[in-house]
Amino acid sequence: MTQHVETHSFQAETQQLLHLMIHSLYTNKEIFLRELISNASDALDKLRFEYLTHPELKKDGEALEIRLELDKEARTLTIHDNGIGMSKEEVIKNIGTIAHSGTKELITKLKASENQEMSASLIGQFGVGFYSSFMVADKVSLVTRRAGEEGATRWTSTGDGTYELSDAARGTHGTSITLHLKDADPENKLDDYTELWQLKRIVKRYSDFVNFPIRTREEREEPKLDEEGNEIEGQVEHVIEDLTLNSMKPLWTRQESDLKEEELSDFYKHVAHDWRPPLTHLLLKVEGMLEYQALLFLPSEPPHDLYYYGAERGLQLYVRRVLIMDRCEELLPSYLRFVRGVVDSSDLPLNVSRELLQQDRHIPQIRKYLSRKLLDKLKEMKEAEDNADYLKFWKACGRALKEGIAEDFDNRERIADLLLFQSSADPEKLVSLREYIERMKEGQEAIYYLTGESREVVEKSPHLEAFKAKEVEVLYLTDAIDEIMLQHLEEYKEKKLKSVGKGEIDLGTEEEKEKAEKERKEKQKEVAPLLEKIQEKLSDYVKEVRLSSRLTDSPVCLVGNEQDYSAHFERLLNQSQGAKLPKQKRVMELNPQHSIFQQLEKRFQANSEDDSVGEYAEVLLGYALLAEGSALHDPHRFNQLVANMLERSLTA
Ligand code: ADP
Repeated sequence: MTQHVETHSFQAETQQLLHLMIHSLYTNKEIFLRELISNASDALDKLRFEYLTHPELKKDGEALEIRLELDKEARTLTIHDNGIGMSKEEVIKNIGTIAHSGTKELITKLKASENQEMSASLIGQFGVGFYSSFMVADKVSLVTRRAGEEGATRWTSTGDGTYELSDAARGTHGTSITLHLKDADPENKLDDYTELWQLKRIVKRYSDFVNFPIRTREEREEPKLDEEGNEIEGQVEHVIEDLTLNSMKPLWTRQESDLKEEELSDFYKHVAHDWRPPLTHLLLKVEGMLEYQALLFLPSEPPHDLYYYGAERGLQLYVRRVLIMDRCEELLPSYLRFVRGVVDSSDLPLNVSRELLQQDRHIPQIRKYLSRKLLDKLKEMKEAEDNADYLKFWKACGRALKEGIAEDFDNRERIADLLLFQSSADPEKLVSLREYIERMKEGQEAIYYLTGESREVVEKSPHLEAFKAKEVEVLYLTDAIDEIMLQHLEEYKEKKLKSVGKGEIDLGTEEEKEKAEKERKEKQKEVAPLLEKIQEKLSDYVKEVRLSSRLTDSPVCLVGNEQDYSAHFERLLNQSQGAKLPKQKRVMELNPQHSIFQQLEKRFQANSEDDSVGEYAEVLLGYALLAEGSALHDPHRFNQLVANMLERSLTA
């Protein structure tokens, strides 16, 4: 009977990837073994998990393991596992195509990557592990049998665009992947993967923490011994020995002092699918009413899906060393979603489901404790003599952390302690709220800020003029999330946070404030009829017109009342579809020192019926809108007015 063999084509993206894999990567090829072992370990985890719901699948005395088999003559290396295995459909789905949406991105990055080290390191991150076998093999074959099924499937490919599928036989469930290794580079000892010492080294280096034994068989010749234990001259014995290559002790069960940086880094790469080393880690062992261990990591760069709505998130959840869930969201609040790692609990039931988890009373306790510890760790990093790591963290994940101000009421103060902002003081340095308070000016009662699209926009805002003149520091808040955060952060250490674009502003010492306020009130009374006329003219958009204490150079600006949304927030909400705010009227502030105002006043006094006063008011409104980065209400009308004025001034 001839075997029926089907030939399939790889998906176009897979072909591209294989091509790159085969032709452009020459360094650090040894990671292929880490990738295959990692897949095998996942398959064993999945099987162990399936046993919980299908105990009938489990055979007595079965030892879950990964086995490496070398054949020097044939130059093959086989990685066996007795894990969950795959059905034929699963082979086609998992091995023939790349499901990950990030693959296109990876291919672009691989093409653009500057050196081969970089390319090789990109592989792990995107989870294209299996294909890395084509870096070292010119032919790969895989035989797999799904647990609970009888038949097995063989998959073979030389990585040239197609793969073959046929039926096969396999004694037990699991997967065997045979690599037909390319010839080794005779110049490079480390290039020969048929050497046992090499496998030992690579497993130790990358996969020591794997939770299942990685075994192999060593065959060697030893001198034959006589009955008294003496060597018999010229006679040797063939010895076969079973070796376990990894220590298997999960990192989180060890003591902090037994954790090596390299191991932590490898483990992090495995759990986080990140190819860069972590920024730092946190090992927690909780004992008492509730027992669990956690090993958590902060990334050194933002995870690529940090701000994708609906991205999978969460920590790995183990129950007594058995992996139960790969991404358990319930273990951390959403604003800490950049944290990766594992939690291993002794108290949860092994067959815990997502639904059960949501009801389990332990989970909120774990989440609370982990959040606290993470925030403490961040604080420690921030307050360290050398806070470079914190600055790196803030740059990578600070925006997500800010969400915590709104999300985590209990920890609001703690999170507020961690915030950093740009400010008017030093464009190079970020400032914390505490530092801001420490350098507040005499008589200054509030923490001043201004929100906007970017530092460049905010910096030029007319609202800052008086602050610049009096050298009062203003925080520049330029993330979209800042607006939401501010609604939940009204004060810090009893100092109110106050927008320089809202309410009335009084700066200086008590005496100065009083004097300025008195003068302004008097002047305001004097020009009240003019202000009224302007307000009437602009009443669709402006609810009050008053004299400003915040302008020094500009003729006009728009502000809000304390409880109003900022102009920036209004722009943001209007951009995000669906959310239309009821139109807010603004307060117009005019600069009494400015000659535009003084001339306008003169004109009004000469003839309070003069129509041009209203037109000037309209242009001033447009000026103020443009200055703060908002759109004109009626650009056509504005242009017309400006053109008329230009004409008049040119003909005058
Ligand atoms: P990743 O492991 O990141 O998903 P891979 O290309 O390495 O990417 O593997 C693709 C898929 O193939 C895996 O997600 C898994 O479903 C399946 N797979 C790979 N190796 C094995 C194995 N040894 N046993 C069972 N399934 C496997």
